[in-house]
Amino acid sequence: MRLSGRRASVLAFALILILLVSATSATTAAAVSDITLVINGRVVATDSPPILVSGTTLVPIRVVSETLGADVVWNQTTNSATITSGQTRIVLTIGAAQAQVNGQSMLLALPARIVSGRAMVPIRFVSEALGAQVAWDQAGRQVTIVYGTALPAIENLSWQETPGLARFVIVTNGPAPYRVSTLARGEVRPDRPDRLLVDVAWASVNIPETTPVGEAGIQRVRAYTEDMAGTPTARVVFDADAPVRYEVWATWDPSPPLGVGDLPAVFKPGQEAIVVEIQYQVLGVEFVDEPGLERVIVHMNGPADYRVWEASSPWRLVVDARRATLATALAGLSNDERTTPVGKMGVAQIRVGQFNTDPDIARVVLDVEADMPVAYSVIQDRDDIVIYLGGALTISGFGYERLDTGGRLTVWAGRALKPVVTRASDPDRLIVEFKGARLGGAVSGGGTVDYGDDLVLSLVYAEDASRQVTTFTINLRRPMSAEATPTADGVVLDIGRSALLGRVIVVDPGHGGTDPGAIGANGVREADLTPLISAKLAVLLRAAGAEVVLTRTGSDENPDKYARPELANSVGADALISVHLNANYRSAICGSETYYYRQDSHLLSELILSRLLEQLGRPDGGVRWADFVVTREAHMPACLVEGLYMTNAIDLALIMKSDTLDRMALAIFEGLEDFFAGRPAQ
Ligand SMILES: [Zn+2]
Repeated sequence: MRLSGRRASVLAFALILILLVSATSATTAAAVSDITLVINGRVVATDSPPILVSGTTLVPIRVVSETLGADVVWNQTTNSATITSGQTRIVLTIGAAQAQVNGQSMLLALPARIVSGRAMVPIRFVSEALGAQVAWDQAGRQVTIVYGTALPAIENLSWQETPGLARFVIVTNGPAPYRVSTLARGEVRPDRPDRLLVDVAWASVNIPETTPVGEAGIQRVRAYTEDMAGTPTARVVFDADAPVRYEVWATWDPSPPLGVGDLPAVFKPGQEAIVVEIQYQVLGVEFVDEPGLERVIVHMNGPADYRVWEASSPWRLVVDARRATLATALAGLSNDERTTPVGKMGVAQIRVGQFNTDPDIARVVLDVEADMPVAYSVIQDRDDIVIYLGGALTISGFGYERLDTGGRLTVWAGRALKPVVTRASDPDRLIVEFKGARLGGAVSGGGTVDYGDDLVLSLVYAEDASRQVTTFTINLRRPMSAEATPTADGVVLDIGRSALLGRVIVVDPGHGGTDPGAIGANGVREADLTPLISAKLAVLLRAAGAEVVLTRTGSDENPDKYARPELANSVGADALISVHLNANYRSAICGSETYYYRQDSHLLSELILSRLLEQLGRPDGGVRWADFVVTREAHMPACLVEGLYMTNAIDLALIMKSDTLDRMALAIFEGLEDFFAGRPAQ
């Protein structure tokens, strides 16, 4: 991790300053009135301002009685104040170098004095004598006093992938000095990844010890309290895949960057928080050679703020991801290695590089074959920037017919369309998304058509211009499946009963009990993830009318390896799916794989893998034969799915993303449906 240039040095705990002040230097006085006094998280307003004299802060004695809960009795004759709280009794005399604390004489850094007719007392001495803790923040010119049990607490942690930056908001119940530092992979603790640390002095932690993240290259956030040189300190650790570029600021900083008003809704007015901003990274660049949908994908770990522009002489297309850097692995490659040859659609090659730092700009350039502009359209698809070559997609019309085999929706766009089809229930519907497509001609503006047959109730078509997505929502009478077949001028969508209706599917969440399976660098265990994927898969299968039997449900169960296929045999299953995540001692190995044993399982494994590649977009590890008990002992088509590698940083970051497990479950579901529908391998 590197420090960002703008806010490079953050407040240190500068207690030492006050402690070093000598008692004899009291004569050189310099009154300063810009001091903020914060007691138990509240800014205390005083009728006369606190003053700083030779490094010691003096406050009106009323502060002691009104905010520290002590009784103050003023003796006009002796010019002294007696401060009592619980068992503690302090006597301070104006001008005296010593104070009495429970009868004992103690040297003061600075005597109490009268300023403009008011008794002013050294706040650190009084507070500490009363058992409070005091901090002086030199840069912020702030005295922080904490007494009783009212330590500032870290109360909440939330984050957003906002366009341009990931923002982690650490909500505290009061301002507190904080410090930011970094640790490299393996530093201090050999098993730890790259880390960003935020230390908050005199604070306690009221948030979970570990929060998985999986966004912007942050694997998880850990929080705990640690005694640092006598100071109870709340430490918030951001475990990262690789060094990140960041910026940290607090709402109580004298001048927080940007507008606080630009923050998301987790922030209430007046709430105090430390905001950790992390830049996104370019993970890689890819050319997808799919007829009619030729595209360049800039893979990112968050939705970057980007700008597309055309450069000339020679003509080239430039995509700048702003406040973004190349991922460490990509940055380590040579320029040649960062160049992808294309030779299609007029594009010669794609180059990626770090164009600028501070501000960081990662740049992707499409070089053309002849010095001629190429047609293109650019969309943001989740975290990725997708450049479609050959111009914008426009849907010009559609038609629906009820055939003997089911319903058929035909959509025209003058070129091949590849929609993303998802199912939803309550009410049952099919959601067909055309990314990068607009509505034109007779269908521009969107609308609704009622069909009201035995399958389809109605169809709503609409364009979301900001996301550049056109969506067809097909409202159904009951759950239905859909198969999309791209044509030369659009797509045909066949709507019918799921081929899974009435099928018995046994789903086997790998590992469990004392067997953790693979363990990710962030400590996440395969055995805890496989039941999650399996449960999501079961929901999809049941919605399609299949009967589902799970080999285990609890995390403490670990059925014998023979018991798993035995269960499938005993219930007469039509298919067995064993759900796993992969591991390899070589951390570079990544991607999706499926395993089979019996010949009749090969097609099933192939269909599931092709859906996994489609849903997850990670490298193709292939369909593999292996002598695993679970697939060998099953008397029906059986596939062992290794979704992604927990030992690869990019795969693991993806695994930790909220929707990846859903996508894995969906891919397995679609592969099963393809199999029972008799669809051939692609
Ligand atoms: Zn496994």
